[in-house]
This record gives sequence, C-alpha cells and structure tokens, in this order.
Amino acid sequence: MKILFASSEVFPYSKSGGLGDMSNFLPASLVKAKVDVEIITPYYKQIIKYHERLVYIGSKTLYIGNISTVVNYYKLKEGLLDIIFVQNQQYFERDNLYGYYDDDIRFLVLSYAALEYVDLMKKPPQIIHCNDWQTAVIPFLLDEHYRKNEKYKYIHTLLTIHNLQYQGIFSKDKYIYFNKDFDYTYIHFDEINFLKTGIERATMINTVSPNYRNEILTNSFGFTLDGALKKREKDLVGILNGIDYDVFNPETDINISTNFNNANYLKGKKANKKKLLEYFNIKDNGKPLVSFIGRLVNQKGLDLMLDILEDLIVVKDIKLVILGSGDYSYSSYFEYLLSKYPKNVGFYSGYNEELAHQIYAGSDMFLMPSQFEPCGLGQMIAMRYGSIPIVRETGGLKDTVLPYNKYTGEGTGFSFYEKSSYVLKDVIFEAIDLFENNKEEWNKLTERNLEQDFSLDKTAKEYIKLYKQIIGG
Ligand code: ADP
Repeated sequence: MKILFASSEVFPYSKSGGLGDMSNFLPASLVKAKVDVEIITPYYKQIIKYHERLVYIGSKTLYIGNISTVVNYYKLKEGLLDIIFVQNQQYFERDNLYGYYDDDIRFLVLSYAALEYVDLMKKPPQIIHCNDWQTAVIPFLLDEHYRKNEKYKYIHTLLTIHNLQYQGIFSKDKYIYFNKDFDYTYIHFDEINFLKTGIERATMINTVSPNYRNEILTNSFGFTLDGALKKREKDLVGILNGIDYDVFNPETDINISTNFNNANYLKGKKANKKKLLEYFNIKDNGKPLVSFIGRLVNQKGLDLMLDILEDLIVVKDIKLVILGSGDYSYSSYFEYLLSKYPKNVGFYSGYNEELAHQIYAGSDMFLMPSQFEPCGLGQMIAMRYGSIPIVRETGGLKDTVLPYNKYTGEGTGFSFYEKSSYVLKDVIFEAIDLFENNKEEWNKLTERNLEQDFSLDKTAKEYIKLYKQIIGG
C-alpha cells in the first residue's frame, strides 16, 4: 500500500496544534504497520535547521493561474518515514505558518506541488491523504488537471477533517488560481471554499472522532457545511485520534523533572507538581493544581472558564497554571489574574513543548471545557500523565472521557454538557471535593486513567482498514 500524506504542518518541524502532531504520529504508526507512506509538507523558514540532513530530489515549475513558480523537493529520512519538504522561498519561508493575505495561493502551491511530486515518484501512490483545508483542493485539482495522465489515472483521495471551523474561504475572484476549469459549484456563500471542494471530490472523508463525525452533520456543528457533508454521509467516517505512546511516556519523558510509571505514580506526580509550582513561583499548600494548555480561542471554552476562575481561586485557593497563545482578550485576562493572584496563578504566554509536558505531569486536574472539539489530544495526554480531565461532553472529549460516577466509582474524568460556566464550576467543585476529601477514590481514578489505551496503533489499524476500503471499492 502506498500513501502520499499531504499536510500543512508536521511535528516537530512545524506545528500549530493537533494537526501537526497527527501528521507525524499517524504516518509513523502506519510505517510501523508496513504501509509505505511519504509525507509532503512546506519547507517553512525554521526548516533551515534541518537543512544539512535534507537530500535534494528534484524541482518542478507550477502554473497557477497567471503565476508560475518553481518548487524544489527535499527529502528527510526520519527512521522509516520519508518527509518531503516543498521549498519555495516566496510562499513558505515566512515567520508564521498561516495568517497571510495570500494563504490561498500558498496552499494551492502546496497542493499543486504534491500532485507534481507524484510525477517524481517511482510508483504513484494509491491514495493521496489530504488534511484540512490547506490540502483539501487536491482531489479537485487531480480530477481537473491530472486524471488524463496515465500515472494519475487510478489515484484515490482521502480527506481528513481535523477541524471544520477552518475552511479556507477566499474571494471568488481568486477562482483563476484554480486554472480555467474552476467549477462554480464550489462557490459557497459567494466565496471560494477550499474545504468544500474536498468534501465534494474526495473519494472518502473522515474526521477525527466518531462523535464529531455525527455532530458535523447537524446545523449546530456543521459551520454551514453540514449540507455538503450530508450529501457524502455514506462516505464519511469517524476515526479516533491517538497519541504517540513513545513521545508521551511519563516513564521516559526527558521533558519532565521526575519520571514515573503506574507503580510509583504517587511519588512521581508529587515531585512533578513541586517542580511545576516552583517554576511559577507558587508555594505548594496541598491545594489542587488545575491546568489548561491550548490555543487561546473561543473554541476551547475559555469564556466559560473566565467567569469562574477568580471564584475558584478566592473560595478554594486552587493553583492555576495556563499555557497558551491566541486572542488578546483571553491572554490579557490571564495577565490580570496573574498580577492579582501571583501566589495562585502561573501563566506562560506562547508555545512551549517542554513546559507542556511538565504541566501534564505536575497537574492534578486538566481543563478542557471546549465549545466543540473534533478529537482533542490534550485530554488524552493528561490522562496518560495522571491528570484528571474536566471536559465538556462534545466531539472526541465525549468519546474519550467517561464521566465519574460517585455511586459506582466508575469513570475517568469529570464532564458536563450545558454551555454554562455555573455548571462547569459545579463540576470543578465536585472534582476538588473528591481530591480533598476522598484520596483513596481519587487515586483509584488516577490509576484508571493511567491504564487507558489511547495509543496510535489502534488509530493506525482503523486508517489501514479505511485505505483498503478506498482502494477496494
Ligand atoms: P487543537 O488541535 O485544536 O489545537 P488538540 O488538543 O487536538 O487541540 O492538540 C493540541 C496539541 O498542541 C497538544 O499536543 C497540546 O499539548 C499542544 N499545545 C497546544 N498549545 C500549546 C502551547 N502553547 N505550548 C505547547 N504545546 C501546546
């Protein structure tokens, strides 16, 4: 089986969130399962660090509307995995991954470059696996511009939607960049919508949890594409993401202060909590350490948190650690909390991989009250490091966190459904109550979390099944 995996970000070379993680971890697991996978992704500015390890393999000229531009392909070997970096200084070597006025052209460059790369391959892939809006136009371009060529005749496509909110919406005047065959059925609310072209044209579509798969067929979660998705309902599946158990392993993780396993986790968690509190200059007085790691955007349920965090600090004396970057309204609120309650609050504004691991290992509770959550990796990582997740029952959070039942003692975390900060506060109070007044139950809960299996092997098996279905049928 040969797969070309196209993604706009690949950890650790480039990452803005879960897409970056999955674009390395999933192909790596597929390769272990003997699938032949090549990843294709942009050569961003920071890739220069790896340049010495790259091997030049060829160049192509792309013609995109009235633009012509040359891309160079470089290969990086990472274990059994081949990563192809598409180098084009003008479009990719910038300070950030996204957010530019010409993002449409930038990711058309990536999409055309992926298709042109097929011509350099000894054998064409059976499937081009596209991810999110940045590469969602590949199935359309393949049909319109490449099908007649023998090498491209039998290539299938899979589109994975990691987040339906981001669709790649651009002015319809830009249709010329799709070249002359642009089809007006892809105009969505008077604009070009990259993701919609993929939904219409990909052989199959999947999203990253079974529950989110069902949610996006509804008006409330469909972000205006529920109609388009409904038309493809029988070709739409949900596969739960997983996490790399080698990267996220408290027993071997070099980013945490004290390694631990299921047998000695009590000592390990205590030492990591101490270190984390020290990092933020907070004194440990035995109160619960509650954390949040993620993009500071509305999706993550920050509005619910903002209403109640101050109360929890004042009333319960919780310790709060926040790591993230994003909207100014949220980061300025955390700056405010930090300045008012320096003995309780730690806030790191920005991206920090090592600190993230230390937070997962040192926290007692991990907050993820998302408005919607396609899958969510944070809660799985938290569980792997013995931090109890507190989540909203949506998307993948519902598929991965079983609500704690104080009567039966079952469950793996605390959860709620209603989008209400008061309900969230109640649930956090419940968690604090168990933490402070019933250590035995709390420890059992932690042990159940440590024993969960969210490894990618399971995820990879599901993708292999889907690939077979696509090729076979
Ligand atoms: P999303 O893809 O919506 O951003 P996920 O929960 O699926 O959310 O994945 C987020 C990933 O990014 C996790 O691995 C999380 O630990 C990591 N992450 C998010 N923000 C930061 C940050 N500021 N610093 C370090 N890691 C982060």
